Parts: sequence; C-alpha cells; structure tokens
Amino acid sequence: MSVLSHAAMFAPGPAGDPRRNLVGLSRSQLGEALASLGLEPFRTRQVWHWLYHRGATSFETMTTLAKPVRAKLAEAFTIGRPTLATDLASADGTRKWLLRMADGQEIESVHIPEEDRGALCVSSQVGCTLTCRFCHTGTQRLVRNLEPAEIVGQILHARDALGEWPAPPDGRLLSNIVMMGMGEPLYNYDNVAQALQIVMDGEGIAISKRRITLSTAGVVPVMHRCGSELGVNLAVSLHAVTNDLRDQLVPLNRKYPIAELLDACRSYPGVHNARRITFEYVMLRDVNDSLADARELVRLLRGIPAKINLIPFNPWPGAPFERSNPAAIQSFGDFVNAAGYASPVRTPRGQDIMAACGQLKSASLRASAILRAAPSATPASLNGAAAAAERETAPPA
Ligand code: SAH
Repeated sequence: MSVLSHAAMFAPGPAGDPRRNLVGLSRSQLGEALASLGLEPFRTRQVWHWLYHRGATSFETMTTLAKPVRAKLAEAFTIGRPTLATDLASADGTRKWLLRMADGQEIESVHIPEEDRGALCVSSQVGCTLTCRFCHTGTQRLVRNLEPAEIVGQILHARDALGEWPAPPDGRLLSNIVMMGMGEPLYNYDNVAQALQIVMDGEGIAISKRRITLSTAGVVPVMHRCGSELGVNLAVSLHAVTNDLRDQLVPLNRKYPIAELLDACRSYPGVHNARRITFEYVMLRDVNDSLADARELVRLLRGIPAKINLIPFNPWPGAPFERSNPAAIQSFGDFVNAAGYASPVRTPRGQDIMAACGQLKSASLRASAILRAAPSATPASLNGAAAAAERETAPPA
C-alpha cells in the first residue's frame, strides 16, 4: 500500500466563500442561477456540458463562452470539488480517497477497477445512524447528510483523478456507481436522488441507471419511490434470515422486519428476471453462515428475481465478528447456486488499504486527535500515525 498524498490535509476549505457552488444544482436550478445574472436560457446547456461532460474546474476554461461572461460567472459562482485529504492505492488497483468537505467533515469514496470497467463506491452521509454491528462506519459519532454537490463531487473527483474527461463511450475506468459507501442513501433520499439525476443526465456524466446500484439496509417506505423515480438497481443488505438475528446485526430490522422488507422487494418497480435485486449477505463465522441459513435464505427469496452477493466479512480492530471460513462460504454459495440463484463470492478488494467501510476515516480522526494532543506534530509524524492505524487494522494473515 502507498500513501500518495497527505499534502491536502492542511488545505483550507472554501468555507466562507460567499459565491454559490454550481455543482449539484439540477438543470432547472442551474438555469435559474444563470438567469439571475441575466444570462440567456441556452447558456444552461453550455455550462452543464462544461461542468459534467468536460469536467471544467474553472470558468476560465469554458472557451465557448465569451470572456466577459466567464468573468461574470467566476464573480458569482464556484465549481466546488471536495478536497483530497488522503489517497491510498492498493496493490490490486483499488483506490481509496478520503475527501474533505467545506465544513471539514471527511468521507470516503473507493474506486474498484475491473478489466473493462470500474465502479465507484459513493458515500451518502458523513457517518451513519444505523449502527449495524459488523460495520465500522456505525461506530463513528458524527452524522450528517451529504448535499447533492458533495455526492456529485465524489464522482467529479474520481473522474479528475482517473483522467477521464470527457469519458469515452466504452471501456471507461469509471463506468458504474454503487451507492454503498458511508451512510444510508434512503435516509438522505432527496439529496441522493438529485445527485443521481445529475449523474444519469446523458449530456453530462452520462452513467445510465442500469449501471447504478443503490444499496439499502431496508428503509421500506422509501424503496418504491427510489425505483419509480430513479429506476436504479437495488441492493438490499439482508445479512440474516431470522428476525431475531437480523434485529441484532441490522437494528433497522426492528422497524422494518424481514417480511415487510421482502414485500417491498417484490413490488420494487422494474424488477424482473433480467433486472434482479441483489441481496448482500456478509459472511460472519458461526453467526449466519450455516447450511440451515442458506436453506432458509432460498426459502425466503422464493418468487423474487434475485442474486445474492456473499461478502466475506472485512475485519476491523475490535469488531465482534470473524470472517467465515472459506469452506463455509463455498458450501453456502454452492447451496444457493444449486437453488438457481447466482451467488458470487465478492473477492475482498483493497485489503491493504483499510477496506472496511469507514476505516480510513477513523484512522484520519485518530491522526488528527494525535495532532491536537501534540500541536507541534509534523505531517511526517501524522503519516506515522496513519501507518500505525494501518498496522492496527491489517487483516489477519
Ligand atoms: N447503508 C447501506 C449502504 C452502505 S453499506 C446498506 O446498508 O446497504 C454497503 C454494504 O457493505 C452493506 O451491505 C453493508 O452491510 C456492507 N458492510 C458494511 N461493513 C462491512 C464489513 N465490515 N464487511 C463486509 N461488509 C460490510
């Protein structure tokens, strides 16, 4: 693993800048913003193209606009990106970015490259209120919703870092989006929806709904809206087949138990055999990984066009669980497969860069605590703190 940059850790954010950020505005909001400067309606499309197709980071580069127009825009508006705080590169090509928002809060996004495509794992909140027991993000205290600009900003940052402006029609490094980062996207539905509408717009970032998957722990009342308004693929974090166990692992189950959750899946708009719901199932040793669990899972999902992602648990320090044995994962997967469900085992990626959701952010919080305790600490010793945090979080060999 390599730490590519800590330099930006000390960069001041744009907090206090009175100019309005254009990133994250819907097309109609952008139109209104430009109209407030007296600009004509056709400018909206031009600026949109620069922001989301060309990835412009300044108005100066928008060469299809007359110079005085560019100057006017720069006076009133910004093109706000999150600041890069830490950039970690895994030996397997996975990149993990810790991004700092204008108020100093930090979130993670992760790029996972595959042979002919790549997915970006995007966060929807700073922290998370769900406190799933196996999830590291649930241990973090501070929670707030991300703004549309901060959600879109993660994608802009990834395209910047991957050098993908404008993005080629095929073979993109960033071709897919999974809303599987920090936070519960359906608890921040309006902002997530606005951000995804921007991402799906064919004249901009242009990632289609078929290449976007939103993962929820099961916020039942919002699932239907998500399907009908956005039409994105749905992933559901199931993780257990009895309410007793799921109440423990995913406390949201106490509010929306398994039967209600699965009903909402059955009626998810657009679901059919060619467009299945993904059920995520984290494999926890001796907790949910028996053949009896597999049998019950198959029974529960009967009639739902589904595939099942088996995710070997990503350990973190102090976690009350262990990863299932490979043999247990294999027999579980074989059983589910024989029952007719695709059940790929997710190869753990980025094991050397604090792969578990929220781990990098926690390491950064520890590093800043050290900095606060010893104000004379230098960036070099900060790196040491991050390295110590990494050693502490290294997966068992
Ligand atoms: N709140 C949403 C999305 C974020 S979590 C949800 O719950 O679906 C994305 C996925 O990672 C979820 O399936 C979550 O249960 C899983 N996950 C979280 N921590 C994990 C860990 N340590 N190991 C394996 N999977 C984990």
